[in-house]
Amino acid sequence: MKITKILVANRGEIAWRVMRTAKEMGIATVAVYSDADVGAPFVRYADQAVRLGPAAASESYLLMEKVIEAALKTKAQAIHPGYGFLSENAEFSDMVEQAGLIFIGPRAEAIRTMGDKLSAKEAVAGFGVPLVPGSKGAIKGIEEAREVLKSTGFPVLIKASAGGGGKGMRIVEREEDFEEQMELAVNEATSAFGNGSVFIEKYVASPRHIEFQILADAHGNIVHLFDRECSVQRRHQKVVEEAPSCVLDDALRSAMGQAAVNVAKACNYRGAGTVEFILDEQHNFYFLEMNTRLQVEHPVTELITGVDLVREMICIAEGQPLSFTQEELYIRGHAIELRVYAEDPANNFLPDIGKLHVYERPDGPGVRVDDGFEQGMEVPIHYDPMISKLCTHASDREAAMDRMIRAIDEYLIVGVQTTLDFGRFVMQHEAFRTGDFDTHFVPKYFTPDKLDRALDEGQQRAGAAVAALIQQGGKGTAVPSSESSASGSKSQSTWRIRRGAPS
Ligand code: ADP
Ligand code: ADP
Ligand code: MG
Repeated sequence: MKITKILVANRGEIAWRVMRTAKEMGIATVAVYSDADVGAPFVRYADQAVRLGPAAASESYLLMEKVIEAALKTKAQAIHPGYGFLSENAEFSDMVEQAGLIFIGPRAEAIRTMGDKLSAKEAVAGFGVPLVPGSKGAIKGIEEAREVLKSTGFPVLIKASAGGGGKGMRIVEREEDFEEQMELAVNEATSAFGNGSVFIEKYVASPRHIEFQILADAHGNIVHLFDRECSVQRRHQKVVEEAPSCVLDDALRSAMGQAAVNVAKACNYRGAGTVEFILDEQHNFYFLEMNTRLQVEHPVTELITGVDLVREMICIAEGQPLSFTQEELYIRGHAIELRVYAEDPANNFLPDIGKLHVYERPDGPGVRVDDGFEQGMEVPIHYDPMISKLCTHASDREAAMDRMIRAIDEYLIVGVQTTLDFGRFVMQHEAFRTGDFDTHFVPKYFTPDKLDRALDEGQQRAGAAVAALIQQGGKGTAVPSSESSASGSKSQSTWRIRRGAPS
């Protein structure tokens, strides 16, 4: 069935990104929005927009009936959920289909199986997919736990079956702490996810997080679109991603890719999904989980494969077979993504919410910025504090890193602290440059004094000046003009007033 109108049940950068592809395909778009997002670029970009409710996600973006009602009212035939919010909610996917609409994503059954880390492991076990050594199912008692611990040794991870987003994990280093940690883990899982089921996994020392993008159509064709490395994490959450990973050789890449395809087979998958693995120092890989949605870091895969993943998701939802085979896919160059969060890396990466007094995107060859903000907007306190995803693409990894540094230097954000200067630190770090790093990169190498805040402080001072100007009711807006220093490696901000520029 040809889809002619899509409702995007999300906000910010991902809503805008999905709509852009829809427009290219001649598909009309409907935005839904909360009171915090009135007039946001993604709302203006849509052909139609429907208000859901107040700012809180629980009173707007998470209201399943309201979202479906909006789709029916505007005569959209399909709903794209983006990531987060309702994207991995099997009940929502069911409700959408029951309303006679198309859910642009996997079937509810696959979301259910993969949404629980334990049922996911169970499903893939018979498909030749290596699992992290640990308990076979949920741990019911301390005796059972001791049996498992005999084979894993320490350290171990106690994980919540329903955990996600880096939450619901506890590392236990010593046997004497196990019982207490187990109790805490169960309580935490119960209160955070409404499901106290936990299991044990061997804690892999020095792991790298490597994931594979897959696409599966409704006709049994499954391909993988290679790997992404996401080992630079804070609080078990990704902040820098790249494609391809620099540690895989062709043989390992193809073995892991095949395992990822098998995971998709195991749950009868349809649509775009990501299979996450960890890789140990000996290059053994283990299945971690599958994310049954479009992933935050999907642009790096698009850059190296030339495939528009949102377009493919829409075509698959229409019932079309994949238009390419595994053999036709190849890797072109290297891509890196930096998640630009309104967070203060010098203060434990805590969110730093506020107004974007100055907001100027980088541009030029090989730079892609997926964002949802404009100068003068507030970063709302109600949602994820990600401002944008800054991606660079170049012929090789070194060039992509150098391009990222250049793009970071061009990016001007005044009003909140961001992960931009942290990104510069990563791109310049010896371990990252040589590819010799693991998921401990941030705790191992990063301390606030490593931030190059000279540029940043200049920006913040200027931001205060801008704010003062606005308060005085001045019509002009101060905008930074960057002049490269002689070395060309770092810009120095100077300030001028642009008369009558929009504020
Ligand atoms: P990904 O695995 O796609 O890179 P993350 O691991 O950072 O994304 O987060 C896991 C999921 O949880 C993502 O879909 C993300 O959008 C969602 N998420 C993270 N933080 C929040 C939040 N504060 N509110 C809503 N969704 C969130
Ligand atoms: P989430 O659902 O929160 O994304 P994951 O199981 O995907 O949970 O794990 C998130 C991160 O935690 C991984 O990228 C990795 O850094 C770390 N991690 C998870 N399992 C292990 C393990 N068994 N050993 C070492 N690190 C792990
Ligand atoms: Mg994960």
